[in-house]
Amino acid sequence: MPELPEVETIVQALRPHLEGRRFTRYISRWAKQAVPSTAAVRRGIVGRRITRLWRRAKFIAADLEDSGGPGRRSRGERAASDQHFGGHLLIHLRMSGRFDWADRPNHKRRHIRAAFDLDDGRRLLFCDMRKFAKIIYTTELDAVTGQLGIEPLERQFTATALERALYGRARQLKPLLLDQTVIAGLGNIYTDEALFQAGLHPTACSERLSREEIERLRTAIRAVLRKAIRHRGTSFDEAYLGGGMQKYLDVYGRAGLPCRRCKTPIERLRIAQRGTHVCPNCQPFDGKC
Ligand SMILES: [Zn+2]
Repeated sequence: MPELPEVETIVQALRPHLEGRRFTRYISRWAKQAVPSTAAVRRGIVGRRITRLWRRAKFIAADLEDSGGPGRRSRGERAASDQHFGGHLLIHLRMSGRFDWADRPNHKRRHIRAAFDLDDGRRLLFCDMRKFAKIIYTTELDAVTGQLGIEPLERQFTATALERALYGRARQLKPLLLDQTVIAGLGNIYTDEALFQAGLHPTACSERLSREEIERLRTAIRAVLRKAIRHRGTSFDEAYLGGGMQKYLDVYGRAGLPCRRCKTPIERLRIAQRGTHVCPNCQPFDGKC
């Protein structure tokens, strides 16, 4: 599943091709992906210009201009409702959603679920093998993203903010870090990597961390995410292509291989239903939670 670095990489790659462009058509081949409905997504985006493409947690977000053209809404109606914007298109890739350009030559293309036509004549395809992805149109951004936790690469992600997230919740670290309402954007890979780098066991109890351990965890989360973005994310299969971070992972996917730091074999545990990778030497088990 694409996590923060993969989604950030996708947004950076799409941005120059989408910002300033107008959607001219939306074709859907999988009705269940559209929220609230295919018709609502079409009505919301077609004719509208993308003013900004950005990321929130694992969502790809496009802000849309209120086109307000003829046959749409009168000026009075616009003033009465959402007068200054045309809503937002939000896409969550979930397990296997990905974009592809229809004019990319010699490319095997499967599992096409939607297409977005643009006013420069290009067609952006949306493919999704597992069919869990969501394409959402909303005028109320908060209704979709309001519950999401803090962005780990933003300035607000201080040691104090992390301490607030960890204390008062006696939870094991790994499930807590995966909780999108606490910290937004971390998934299985980068949680394992950050905990290794911080020298913390995934089952360590969140409220028993010292201030020094919290600072270490904060630094590790940011370093791991930044490095992954530099390497364009992690690619294991065709759900996400083009990444190079898999070569630099310390624990994830390395069960049985020697720890890069201490040579102890990496172990694979099951924590909160997720395969979890640890170095038993670098991340001593404290079993307190
Ligand atoms: Zn080790």
